[in-house]
Amino acid sequence: MLRILFLLIVLLIVALTTWQDRYRSTRWREPLYLAIYPIAADDSAVTQTYLAALDAAKFLPLHEFFMREAQRYQLNTREPVKIRLRGQLHSSPPQRAPGAGILSTALWSLKLRYWAWRVSGHADEPEDIRIFVLYHDPDLTPTVPHSLGLTKGLIGVVYAFAAPDMNGANNVVIAHELLHTVGASDKYSFGNLAPRFPDGYGDPEQVPLYPQRQAELMAGRRMLAPDRWEQAYSLDEVVIGPATALEIRWLRATRKRISPGRSTPAGA
Ligand SMILES: [Zn+2]
Repeated sequence: MLRILFLLIVLLIVALTTWQDRYRSTRWREPLYLAIYPIAADDSAVTQTYLAALDAAKFLPLHEFFMREAQRYQLNTREPVKIRLRGQLHSSPPQRAPGAGILSTALWSLKLRYWAWRVSGHADEPEDIRIFVLYHDPDLTPTVPHSLGLTKGLIGVVYAFAAPDMNGANNVVIAHELLHTVGASDKYSFGNLAPRFPDGYGDPEQVPLYPQRQAELMAGRRMLAPDRWEQAYSLDEVVIGPATALEIRWLRATRKRISPGRSTPAGA
C-alpha cells in the first residue's frame, strides 16, 4: 500500500510540474531561457575540433529568428527566448528503444528527465528549456536519427552535424525542437516528409504557389514544386506559420476564427 501511495505521489508531482511548465512556458511575458548543452556523439577529431570552436555566436541566428517572428505576431515580449551556451557534457541522454510501446516510452521519458536534471542546472540563471545537442562527424554518420522535443520536462534532444556548413541547418532543427517543447506539432507527412498544405507551407497564399520562398518551421522543408521539397538550411528562409503560432499561444483562437479563409492549391 505504501509503495503504491509513494508511486501515486510521484506521478502527481510529475503531472503538476508538467502542467505548471506548460502554463509558464506559453505565457510569453518574459523571455524563456534556453540552455544549449553540446555533446560529442563520437570520438572523431572532426567533432572535437568543431566543439572546441563552438561559441555563443553560432546560435545568434536562433535569437534573431525568434525576435523577428515575435515582432510579426506582435508578441508582448520583444525577446521571447534568451539563449545560453553551456559547457560540453560528457554524458549522453538515454535513448528510446526503437518500437517502444506506451509504457516503455513513458519510462524512457522519466529517465530522460532524471538524466537531464542530473547533468544540467549548475548555472545561476534559470533554465526554462534545455536542449542537448549531439554533434556527429558527417563522414562517420551521414544520416542522424530524428531529433525530439518533449513538452514534459521541456527537454529537447537534437542530432546535429559537426560541420560549419551545417550550422544553419542545425539551428533550424534546434528551433523546431524548441517549439515542440512548448506545444507545437509537426506539419509534414510522416511517410515522405513533405510539408502538409496549408499549415506546413511558408505562405499557403503565395501566387504562384511554387516554389515557396519560405519554409514553415514545423515542416522544416520548403516546397519547390508540387512533388519536390528541400530541407531548410538557414533560419533566414523559415517562418512560424499561424497554425504553429496558435499551438504555442502566440495567436489566440478567437483571432483564427476571424482570419480570412485560406486558398487551396490550384486544381485541388
Ligand atoms: Zn518535429
